[in-house]
Amino acid sequence: MRLWLSPHLAYLKKTLRMLGLDVRIRSKSRSGWLPNDRFIHPDRYPSWNTEAGAITLKTETEAEQVREILQALDLRPDPDRLLGRCLRCNLPLTPLQSEDLAPYRDQIPVYILQTQRHFNRCPGCGRIYWPGTHARNMLARLQELGLVE
Ligand SMILES: [Zn+2]
Repeated sequence: MRLWLSPHLAYLKKTLRMLGLDVRIRSKSRSGWLPNDRFIHPDRYPSWNTEAGAITLKTETEAEQVREILQALDLRPDPDRLLGRCLRCNLPLTPLQSEDLAPYRDQIPVYILQTQRHFNRCPGCGRIYWPGTHARNMLARLQELGLVE
């Protein structure tokens, strides 16, 4: 399932991707639409998207809106999918085995190479992710919003 945000809700993109969801911004010049796609827009702006499956958000804060979306879709944040998606490209990350790390070593601080075993790579931008400070900060942000335990 792909979620399309109206441009008014672009600020929700990062948080929803942290939760592992496939999130895109819908522009008026429409691109491909699949039967399971959902369009999300705030109540105070009328929906110009005529496809089926629109979700209208009544709340105003980021935390409330994300909860409203999860509720509308009957989704629970899945701890296994947390941080499984590139926040920049929206692509699912692929695990990098330690034997495949060699070409990417110069992108990873030495200390991280010595202390971390699990790395993921974005097939789009090539960015390497590991469960370090950045991931912890993202989790803390989701907890702060009351979205994960
Ligand atoms: Zn990426």
